[in-house]
Parts: sequence; C-alpha cells; structure tokens
Amino acid sequence: HFEPHMLELAQAAHSLENDLRVSLATHTPELHQAINNEQFSIHYQPIISSSNYAIAGFEALIRWNHPQRGWVSPGQFIPIAEEIGVIDMLGTWVMRKACKDIMQWHGPQLAEDFFISVNVSAKQFKKPALLADTINNALEESRLAPHRLHLEMTETSTFNEIPEKFFAVKETGCKLSLDDFGTGYSSLTYLHSLPFDSVKLDKSFISDLYVRDEARWSLSEKMIRAIFSLSSAIGLELIVEGIETQPQLHFLHKLGCNPMYQGYLFSRPIPTDQIPDFLSTPLHLGDLHEQPNIQHC
Ligand code: C2E
Ligand code: MG
Ligand code: MG
Ligand code: MG
Repeated sequence: HFEPHMLELAQAAHSLENDLRVSLATHTPELHQAINNEQFSIHYQPIISSSNYAIAGFEALIRWNHPQRGWVSPGQFIPIAEEIGVIDMLGTWVMRKACKDIMQWHGPQLAEDFFISVNVSAKQFKKPALLADTINNALEESRLAPHRLHLEMTETSTFNEIPEKFFAVKETGCKLSLDDFGTGYSSLTYLHSLPFDSVKLDKSFISDLYVRDEARWSLSEKMIRAIFSLSSAIGLELIVEGIETQPQLHFLHKLGCNPMYQGYLFSRPIPTDQIPDFLSTPLHLGDLHEQPNIQHC
C-alpha cells in the first residue's frame, strides 16, 4: 500500500539520477576537472589466500565524492556512466591509477606477486582494441608485470558476443575474472568457451548461509559446493566474496578447497592513503590461524 514518503523516496531517487546524469554528461572538460579535483578516488579491498592467509591481491573499487551529494556509490553512477558514454574515460583513470598504486605497496602479509583486480564494464569490452591500448599503457607506465593485473567482468547478456574480443584483451597478458558468478545471466558455457582464469562467487550465496529460511540456506550450501567442485574440475581459481561472519568462513573452510576470500570479516575497502598503515599492521584473523580441514572438493 502507498504512503506519502514512498513518493518522496521515488522523487529523491529520480532527482539523484538526473543530477548524476548532468554531472557526468558534462564530459570534457568538467569531468576531467572532477577527476583532477580528486572527486573520484579508489578504495582497495584485500583478497586473502585461504591456504596461508597472505594477501593475494586487492580489488580496486571506485568512489565518488560529489560536491553537493557527498559520497555516491558506484552502483549508482557506473550504470549512468555506461549509458552516457563516459565509462571508457573513468575506466581508464581507474586502471592507470590502480596499476601505479600497487607498485608502492610493501609488507610482510603480501603474497609475492600479489595482484590488482580492476572492474571493467562490458561496454569497455565492446571496444577491445581501445581496452587493450589502455591496459598496455597502464602496464607500461607503471612497469607492473601483466599477470599481476586482473580484470573483473560481470556476466551480462553481451557475453554472447564473439569470444575474439576476450582473446584480444587476453593478449595483453592480464588475467580475466568472471564477477558475481551464479547470478544474472550465468551460463556454464561461458566458463568453457571464454578465457577466464578465475571466478568470483557472488556474495548472495554467502549471505544466505545461516539465514532463518532453511530452504534458502540449504540451496545456497548446495550451490556453493557445486561451484567449488566445478571450478576445481575445470581449473579455475575461485574467489569467494561477501564473507562477513565467522560461521560463514568456517563453513567454507570445511569444504577445504583453498579458494581466496574477500569480505568485511577480513577488511572493508580501504582508502588509498590508508593502505601503507594497513600493510604495516598484522591482519586481524580472529581464530583463523588453525589450518583448514582439507577434504575432497
Ligand atoms: P563488485 O565488483 O561485485 O564489488 C564488490 C562489492 O561488494 C563492492 O561494493 C564491495 O565494497 C562490496 N563488498 C565487499 N565485501 C563485502 C561484504 O562482506 N559484504 C557486503 N555486503 N558487501 C561487500 P561497491 O564498492 O559499492 O561496488 C559495487 C559495484 O560497483 C562493484 O561490484 C562493481 O560492479 C562496480 N564497480 C566498482 N568500481 C568499479 C570500477 O572502477 N569500474 C566499474 N566498471 N565498475 C565498478
Ligand atoms: Mg568486482
Ligand atoms: Mg561487478
Ligand atoms: Mg562481485
């Protein structure tokens, strides 16, 4: 049933979208200026190796501090940036900055060859030559080894397009990761026909563990087990996203497949300038130091 505040909410959402549309659409030079004025920044979230709890890599997550709106989440502005055609510019900025940033980081918890994972929009993949140029330039100016750059792509309907585009991008030497796996347009044939190196299990599966609704919980458990064994059978690395609690982690641990872990339980995404501090203090692992109980996947 309808209440007046619902209308207000809907109007607020609408005006936010309009406002973002205007801010982003003022292309050059205003968008350049917004980037130069540091309205955009990157937060980095660590990805942990379950075999030794080293930091295997970081995911780069863009943030926008809008002069009037304050912090706007990428979930709100990335779709608009894609729609109005400024995603290439934003995506290029993130890629260059992330490759440069990672070269500055040092610390005992870091795995040798730790990687940087950058989200790439399906729109960017539509222009594989431009994307490959962007990657090659970012690698060249940062001197980052290509295999340490991972591109995360969310499954979309555009995946049906010719696989050559994926292979063109793979020629740069970077690795490809299938993001939000298990939701949306999921198809097992993608995993087989496209050159992915890893999959990221969508966080909805993990958040369904230990919920009151036992049918939902049980279905998630089955899906997680199935995806664990599928990924190991076809030789894909697995990253489990959205781990927030110890019971969720212990469940995953008992599956014993040595995936990588990412989630608030380990760390929230961290502002770039706080990374050196983060790396100089030991990771808070709670009671995780016990070795996983390895079983067959
Ligand atoms: P994603 O690639 O699936 O990134 C993971 C999202 O889950 C991030 O949200 C992250 O902050 C959040 N997250 C991490 N751990 C947990 C957890 O334990 N619990 C919960 N509930 N959430 C967790 P964020 O930063 O708001 O980003 C949202 C989406 O925006 C990303 O989803 C990605 O699709 C997109 N995005 C972010 N940065 C970029 C970018 O530079 N380029 C493009 N094209 N898309 C980006
Ligand atoms: Mg991602
Ligand atoms: Mg994504
Ligand atoms: Mg994801």
